[in-house]
This record gives sequence, structure tokens and C-alpha cells, in this order.
Amino acid sequence: MKILPFDDRDGFIWYDGKMSPWRDAKVHVLNHGLHYASSVFEGIKVYDGKIFKLNEHSERFRKSAEILEFEIPYTTAQLNEATKEIVAKQGIKDGYIRPVAWRGSEYMKIYAKGNSVHVAIATWEWPTYFAEELYKTGIKLCWAKWKRPSPETAPTAAKAAGLYMICTMSKQLAEDSGYHDAMMLDYRGYIAEATGANFFMVVDGELHTPTPDCFLNGITRQTVMDLARSLDIKVVERHIKPEELASAQEAFLTGTAAEITPVGQVGEYKFTPGRVTNLLKDEYHKLVRA
Ligand code: PMP
Repeated sequence: MKILPFDDRDGFIWYDGKMSPWRDAKVHVLNHGLHYASSVFEGIKVYDGKIFKLNEHSERFRKSAEILEFEIPYTTAQLNEATKEIVAKQGIKDGYIRPVAWRGSEYMKIYAKGNSVHVAIATWEWPTYFAEELYKTGIKLCWAKWKRPSPETAPTAAKAAGLYMICTMSKQLAEDSGYHDAMMLDYRGYIAEATGANFFMVVDGELHTPTPDCFLNGITRQTVMDLARSLDIKVVERHIKPEELASAQEAFLTGTAAEITPVGQVGEYKFTPGRVTNLLKDEYHKLVRA
């Protein structure tokens, strides 16, 4: 299959307040974001031309920057407007939106203040993250070698580029060893999340999920917890030890891109996608297109 590189496409990207031709949306090699990971981003989905949870994503985008001690020079309302504009201009029906903000090129030293802050919003057609046939059996996860760091070690509540180093390495090891993704433990050895999605398991009809005290409290995660409660499914947020996976019958991942993806295996533990997973998956699919 011929790849379509992301820097060589037709269309437009919203870039620092203007519609830039796609191929011209560039940065100089000397910029603070690239060298020191002073960069935050978002991932948003479009269903039938409608943007799901746009305001929540724009707010988190600004919050992630604030955690990294820089300010996105647009209000949440302006980001919402810009996002709608680029989705309309690109004519996206079912797709993905990638806002990104980074510190610019004025100063190339570690001290970052005084650097300009840049924002771009790109969007493209992109229906599903994992292949459709995997939804029946569930995806296979191996154990990641890397651990999610303590909130005293990294700004773990931000959706910050730098936190994804260990996700990329874990995802690569997983796929290169025949798995679809990797399960990451946290610095204490508790179950944390996959490389780009949160984790849930079903124990005797109850939904259990790790407390997000050192990883992203995903917008999809929060949506699914609300959905479950509205369906009278008990939701338990707690620290989960790896060996407790033995007590679960079903498991799934949640994320903007992953949506609700059934999990068939984590390391030595096996699950069968069942009633609770399928119910939540159907309800989620209804909600995003409502
Ligand atoms: N954890 C990580 C590391 C992620 O990249 C994502 C995807 N943004 C999530 C969790 C899920 O977050 P959300 O539901 O907000 O997309």
C-alpha cells in the first residue's frame, strides 16, 4: 500500500489564526517544542460532520499548556470556532482532529519563557483505530516494559508530547511482537492504561477502572462511566493490581480514537467480550452520533 505522508496532502490546516495550505504548515527545525517537548496536543473525533465533546477537548488543550506553564493564545470559544472552521473547510464527515500547540524559536535554551506559542489544527478522514474484525474477539495486549511515572516525576495530567516517548516504545514492542497494544503499569505497579487509551474491566457485572492519579483521565473514560451509571451498572474506581485481572470476565479500552475496544487478552489473562462491553459499545456509538 502506498503511504500518503502527512506533510504532503491537499487541503488546509488552521495555523496561528489563518487557513494555511496543507503543505505550507511548517515549523523551523530550531523550535523549543521539538527540542524540549514543550508541546501539547488533542485528539478529537468527528461523526457525521459533528464534533464530539469539542468544548471538553478545547478546555483540556488549554489546561495541558497551563500545566506545562505556557498559555495558548486563544480562548476556548476561539479554539472551538477554529476547529469548526477547519472541519467545514476540509469537508470532514467521519474523521479525526489534531490540535497541537508548541513553543517557538525565539530562545533555544531550557528556560522557555519569552518564546512565542503556536497553534495548529489539522483534520482528516479517519473512521476506526483498530480493525473492525477485532471487535468480536477483542485485541491482544502484552505487558509494557515502561511504567507510567509518578505525578512528582512528570506532568501526568497533561496531554503533553513528552509523555508519549514511553507510549511509542511500548506500542512498537507490542506490534512488533504480534500484539495490538501494550498494558502499562504505573510507578507503583498498579494497572494504569494502554499506550493511548484507558482501561476498564468487568467483574461480576460491575465496572472497575484504575484511579487516574498518574495518567490521563480520558474524556471517553468519563463519558463511559456516566453511561454505565445511567444504565445502573456499578462503577468502581480504584487501584488495581495486575493479578486482579484474573477475576475479570470482560475488559475493554476507551479513548477518542479507540472508542470502546474490547480486550481479549492482557499478558497471561484472557477475556471474552460480553454483555456489559457490548451494551456500552452500542450506547457509546449511539451517543457520538446523537
Ligand atoms: N490515555 C492516553 C495516553 C491517551 O493518549 C488517550 C487518548 N487521548 C487516552 C488515555 C484517552 O483519552 P480520551 O478519551 O480523552 O481520548
